[in-house]
Amino acid sequence: MVSPWQSVMDGIKTWARINSPWVVHYNSGSCNGCDIEILATLTPRYDIERFGIKLQGSPRHADVLICTGPVTRQSRDRLLRVYEQMPEPKFVVATGSCSISGGVFDGCYNVMGGIAEVIPVDVFIPGCPPRPEAIIYGVVQLLEGLKKK
Ligand code: SF4
Repeated sequence: MVSPWQSVMDGIKTWARINSPWVVHYNSGSCNGCDIEILATLTPRYDIERFGIKLQGSPRHADVLICTGPVTRQSRDRLLRVYEQMPEPKFVVATGSCSISGGVFDGCYNVMGGIAEVIPVDVFIPGCPPRPEAIIYGVVQLLEGLKKK
């Protein structure tokens, strides 16, 4: 049985997690189109900090992994290592058509497919590349999902 103190602490942790998600970005083989849109999303024009979202340099301090591009054979192990370094609970957002299915790179000799071929993905954001509004919408959907957990 969960004590009242424990449920209060869980509520505080969920509240903090929803209001200050720190994100780390990993390019596993993108053409850089999606990466430019992610950088645009982080500018004051879109003011993503209003959701408490902050770009974090180290996966050890991040809650959300934002991935771009298909997974190449060269980057597969690095993607896995970045994911494993993140503390639990952790969430993954696949940004762009390539990160979902391999996109235009699908079938290339050095491409393994989408991000979900290697690590579990919580949110998929389609587009080539997706606009900042779509990226913000995807991250907000993730945060909305956390509220229900
Ligand atoms: S989805 Fe489009 S912009 Fe993004 S990595 Fe693939 S080809 Fe580039």
